[in-house]
Parts: sequence; structure tokens; C-alpha cells
Amino acid sequence: MNSPGARVDDLRRRLQDLGAGPAHVPALLRAWLEARPLGSGKRQAEHFFPLAVREALPQLSQSLQGLASVRSEHPASDGSVRFLVSLCDGQTVESVMLPRDGLCVSTQVGCAVGCRFCMTGQNGLLRQLGSAEIVAQVVLARRQRRVKKVVFMGMGEPAHNLDNVAEAIEVLGQEGGIGHKNLVFSTVGDLRVFECLPQLRVKPALALSLHTTRDDLRASLLPRAPRIPVAELVRLGDAKVCSPASVNRRARKWTADAGNCGRALALRALTPCGP
Ligand code: SF4
Repeated sequence: MNSPGARVDDLRRRLQDLGAGPAHVPALLRAWLEARPLGSGKRQAEHFFPLAVREALPQLSQSLQGLASVRSEHPASDGSVRFLVSLCDGQTVESVMLPRDGLCVSTQVGCAVGCRFCMTGQNGLLRQLGSAEIVAQVVLARRQRRVKKVVFMGMGEPAHNLDNVAEAIEVLGQEGGIGHKNLVFSTVGDLRVFECLPQLRVKPALALSLHTTRDDLRASLLPRAPRIPVAELVRLGDAKVCSPASVNRRARKWTADAGNCGRALALRALTPCGP
């Protein structure tokens, strides 16, 4: 379970192999996501979970804890706290606890987009994070503080790891108890995003990291982002993701900040749109 790229689906399958049923799996996922001991809850474990599941809980807990751990922590004067998070293979990513119960999580080790202003992009993509590794960053933060909003704006381009990010969004929105509009998918713009997000059961908000409204400047600042004109990105976001029938119309943001790496900085301006 605690291997590089581990997915929440791997955990589900492992639990099902042990005999966990449709009521047991979500209960165990909720305990993990709420940073409670596995098996804790309203019902006593010995009267609820199958014996094989109960016997496996200590080892499962250890595996889940091994997915992510805090290597160092760096508080800032504005109340945010940046964590350097170690993964099970020794790679590191960053998570940032934000004021007002927010958390910015990473989705990749490194990044292939190579934005000129971003240190993460300078060495390219090293590996994808599995959905369980993305969710584990939320669990780590919840051991310290309440988390009610998760933004996918840390290291990596979420659109380049779409399956894992989509799985993390669904788990956080269902078993993780985070409101759909408080899950914010951030992207430099990729056509696959506009197809994928409206299909999810959990409907996240969308943040487009435009950085500038000038297409020529954008091409030079984000050299490996898809060449989609800014006006077209905004049109697609409005039409596909924020259409009345699909995702969170009331919570989307097109950021034009020419800012630094760590798109979390732009997040502070993120507010629901609409009436
Ligand atoms: S700013 Fe974001 S998309 Fe650009 S290189 Fe850095 S991590 Fe990747």
C-alpha cells in the first residue's frame, strides 16, 4: 500500500480482499481521512468489521502513515505554514496550510510545464503522485488542524495527473467531507480537464492559472503549457465546467496573476463567483 504512486483504489481493493463490505470500506476511509485511528467510529470495531479486517488494521495504519510524513515545517507571518513532505520513496513535495482552514496540496514530484518563474518546473517531472499520496497530505494536515478547503495548486500540474487527482477529489468530496466547491482544481489549461471535470460525481471548482492575458507573453512564461489562447480557455471554462448543468458555477476563478511558483499565493484571492 505504501509504494510510490499508491492509489486509494489499491486500498479499497486490499480491504475488499480482506472481506470488507460496502459499509466497511467507506467507514475505514472516513476514519483515515478524518485522521482518526482506523476502526474507530460510532460502531465498535469487534461488532462491525470482519475479523480479517480487524487483524489487518495495525499493518494498514502503518502503511497509510508511511505514505507521507512531515520532514520540516515553515510557518509564515500571514498564518500559513509550508510543509516539506517526505514520500515513501524519499522524494519530497510541498503542502501549504492556508488561513481559514485551507490546504494547498501537490499532485506531482516536479512538473513538466517548466514555467519560467517556478523552481519546481526547472528539473522537469520526476514522478506522478498516486491518489492516496495526494489524500495523505490532507490527512497529515488534519492531524494538526481542521481542513475544510483543498486546492490542487502545489507542485505539479494536476491536468498531467488527471486520473489520480480526479480520484482524490472524489474521495475528499465523499468520505473526506469536504464541500464540493471547496475542492479547487487548478490548471494552466488542458483540453482533457474540460472533458473530465464535468463527468465526476464530485464537482470541484476550477481555477485557471493564466498568469497574463497576453497570449505571446503567456507562451514565453509557460513554455510547455498547451497553446490555447486565453480567451478560448476562459470560454471553455465557462461553457464546459461552469455551465449550469455541470460543475460548481458559483466557484470558479481565472487567475491572471503574474505571480510566483506556488499557485497557492493566488488562492487567497479565490472567491466564489456568481450572485
Ligand atoms: S508554476 Fe505550476 S505548472 Fe508551472 S512549472 Fe511550477 S508547478 Fe508546474
